[in-house]
Amino acid sequence: MNFNNVDFDTYLKNYPDKNGYFGKYGGCFIAPELQDAMKEITDAYFTICKSRKFISELRRIRKEFQGRPTPISHLERLSDKIGTGVQLYVKREDLNHTGAHKLNHCMGEALLAKYMGKKKIIAETGAGQHGVALATAAAYFGLECDIYMGTVDIQKQAPNVARMKILGANVREVTHGLATLKEAVDAAFDAYSKEYKDAIYCIGSVLGPHPFPMMVRDFQSVVGIEAREQFIEMTGELPDAVVACVGGGSNSMGMFSGFLNDPVDIYGVEPLGRGPSLGDHAASLTYGEEGIMHGFNSIMLKDENGEPAPVYSVASGLDYPSSGPEHAYLHDLGRVKYDVINDEETIDAFFTLSRLEGIIPAIESSHAVAYGMKLAKEMGKGSVLICLSGRGDKDMDYIIEKYGIR
Ligand SMILES: *Cc1c(COP(=O)(O)O)cnc(C)c1O
Repeated sequence: MNFNNVDFDTYLKNYPDKNGYFGKYGGCFIAPELQDAMKEITDAYFTICKSRKFISELRRIRKEFQGRPTPISHLERLSDKIGTGVQLYVKREDLNHTGAHKLNHCMGEALLAKYMGKKKIIAETGAGQHGVALATAAAYFGLECDIYMGTVDIQKQAPNVARMKILGANVREVTHGLATLKEAVDAAFDAYSKEYKDAIYCIGSVLGPHPFPMMVRDFQSVVGIEAREQFIEMTGELPDAVVACVGGGSNSMGMFSGFLNDPVDIYGVEPLGRGPSLGDHAASLTYGEEGIMHGFNSIMLKDENGEPAPVYSVASGLDYPSSGPEHAYLHDLGRVKYDVINDEETIDAFFTLSRLEGIIPAIESSHAVAYGMKLAKEMGKGSVLICLSGRGDKDMDYIIEKYGIR
């Protein structure tokens, strides 16, 4: 399929280019001492990860440890309730081991670390979800694991901190500045620049310097590959629309990559939070502008000084002031439509899906569910496939405290 002069038959092979660019977005903007480390990872990726041995080992792990393939479920009661005839389906990434899609790329990154002979994996975490997934992968492969986390986040996310520790990870507290995700990213990169001979940095989404946006997309592409096959087997056709929530953009990129070359409308859903004023949302592609942060060029939300702006969302996994460079590219091309869902619509969808289908979604994923429901009302006929990126168990305490039981 040709779309705005981009040939999607060969897209995944040709994007990013060899310097890590999707159009003008992406690249590798990092300290000179880390350029070599990035090159080492890029070279290893193209040799090791494309080898038959690596691919078959990862496939086995996904089946025997992670629980893949995850199924697609038809949301019959929800579709009936909407009543337009549109049928809703969810790809069940909530059924992955550890409860979300994040393990798809963490297992890939950690397996690569093992093949490269590294002893340790390093990362930062905000809400702790990436830290838990990576600590799980580290335990599985017997790797050391250092997770950098701001003091504020450590206090807010006690259960995830406990999980990481039980899994054997070292939680490295970052006390300076605002002591949240941004400082943790800087501290993790700093540690990595000193330890890169024995360690590998593992990013939590399709973000950061090349090769991470490509590598994480490719590890997540299993979601889209499975979903496309399963949907056709289940219904005999392609879905009319595919929907996923976009934080950094990994579950969505994995899902979308399976459908880019199909006549399917694709929607990325960003968190509108409390509303469209800067500081009240994290809808970076919808409201942001071009800029460089954390090692890559993308579209981002900036404050008056051009620095990454403070962001907010009811879903802690979505509150990042930018998204992966590939999303910025697909946004500009118009191949994916990016739109927003606010906190209230999200919480409504959270309770609706739980009550009607027996699936308690993560608050992040509830954004995609809310948008799928909206589309179903507008479309009048056809089908919508939603990526249910994770389960809501992690959100129970917060939901009960803030919203009660509806
Ligand atoms: C982390 C997380 C997200 C957001 O990350 P992406 O990289 O945008 O996919 C979405 N859903 C769940 C359940 C998460 O844990």
